[in-house]
Order: sequence, then C-alpha cells, then structure tokens
Amino acid sequence: MRLVTYRDSEGIHIGALKDSVVVLLDVIAPNMLTLIDGGDEALMAARDMLERAEVTKSVNDVQLLAPIPRPRQNVVCIGMNYVAHAVESNKARGLEPKLPEYPVFFTKAPNTVCALDDEIPLDPRVTQQMDYEVELAYIIGRGGKNISRNDALSHVFGYTIVNDISARDLQMKHQQFYKSKSLERSCPMGPCIVTADEIPDPGVLGIRLRLNGEVRQESTTGDLIFDIPATIESLSSGAEIEAGMIVSTGTPSGVGMGRIPPEYLRVGDVMEAEVEGIGVLRNRIVAAQ
Ligand code: MG
Repeated sequence: MRLVTYRDSEGIHIGALKDSVVVLLDVIAPNMLTLIDGGDEALMAARDMLERAEVTKSVNDVQLLAPIPRPRQNVVCIGMNYVAHAVESNKARGLEPKLPEYPVFFTKAPNTVCALDDEIPLDPRVTQQMDYEVELAYIIGRGGKNISRNDALSHVFGYTIVNDISARDLQMKHQQFYKSKSLERSCPMGPCIVTADEIPDPGVLGIRLRLNGEVRQESTTGDLIFDIPATIESLSSGAEIEAGMIVSTGTPSGVGMGRIPPEYLRVGDVMEAEVEGIGVLRNRIVAAQ
C-alpha cells in the first residue's frame, strides 16, 4: 500500500493511494502513528478498505502532507553511509578519505518535517551553504531491543523519501550535525509511505536527486555501507527502539559540497528527490521571511 497523510476542507486524514484517488482510512485510525501502532490487524483492515474503495477523493483535491507530519521523536539519520559520499565529504573538509567503522548516527528535530511541494526557506544570515541529500528512510513498525540483523526487516513498517537538508557551514562551526540539520523545514518527507510488503528488498532501489532538472545524485541503495538490517541491529543494541521511529539511511555522492568548486542551494532552486518504487519528493528553495 501507498499510505498518505493529507489535508482537505474538512481537516487532516490518512488514506491509501489507488491510481489517482485517495481511499480514506479514517475509520481505522485517526493518524499514521496510530495506524502503525495498530500492527498487522490495522494493516489488514486498511487493505480491505483499499480494495473496496468506497470513500475516495481525487488526489488533485487534497494537499499531501508528510506521511508522519510530526514524528514522536527526532528523525534518526545516518551520516557518510555511501562510500563515494564519505570520500567526497572528507575531501571537501580537507581530510583523508576514511570510511566509518560503525554507523554515524545523528538526528533532526521533529518540527523540521515538511511535505511534498513545501517551500524551504533560505536565510543567508543563518547559512550560506545549504545543501540537499536524497535518502531512503524507513519507519519502524514493531519496536524492540537487541534485534538481530536476520529479524530486522520484520520490524519495518514501510519506506519513504527524506531530503536531509544540511547547512554545511553550521556543520563545520558546531562540530556536530544537529544544528546544521535542524533548520526550519530541513526535513522534507514523502510523498507517501510504501508498506514493507511491497518492497521485499530495500537494498536494490535506484536513488537520485535532480536539481532544476539536472541529475546531481544517482546511485542504488545496494551501495549503502551499513544496510538497513545492520542499522536496526546497531540502533536497537542495548536500547529499545519504538514504533513510529523514522530512520534516514544516508545519501549518495553528488551533494553540492562535493562539487569543485562547491555549489550550494539558491533561492528558486527546485530539488526532486526520487527513490525507485516510492516516488518523487519535490521542494523549492525560497527566501526566508
Ligand atoms: Mg544525510
């Protein structure tokens, strides 16, 4: 299923996409996190409703929001998780190319999440080095602790796309990722969650980002240094991970920081972050008010 959260004249709802219509799932759960908490039973009920498609709306008549507009906790991200990107990142900082031995985890604040077509404000007084990062993200469906790699994918509810907007100058100044990755609307997410049953192998998906129509990042999730099972095993080691947790798996090479000379985002730029089987997440940069 392709699950969405959307707004119409009556409020905010959840639904499932079927061709060009949204099938309302409100009677099963009031929001995506409650649907996730409902487990297999809620998913089966949703599938049943999707098949019957009794109450629908045209996609054109609704405004898609991020599938989880306000996560319960910070969005967990993994840094330097593609070989070529780890090399370009280190090179841009004048460091030796070195691959991480363990996943590099950091987080983005929950209120950075925004949706398809939301405009991303750029304030030159705050950052002059705003950059894009297309990423495959997964959502935990069933929590747990000390989850083994073999069992890891059974804990995944589904997959979405994140554009991990990053202020490189703040990254350097603060020596940590949180501030540079948590500016206003720096976590575009969507357009939908594709449930895990429809992506049996998340390690073979094409991933790319177009900037103003030009391909800047292009890879496959097969190039991840730490694949999804490895990151779940690591995150849950000695720590409970909870349903609804969003984990963004890292970005391939081709970011603005890695170009010679570097090219950062400018007002008017349009980013299209795409992951095969999920869709396209489009956002424009605007001048901050
Ligand atoms: Mg990233």
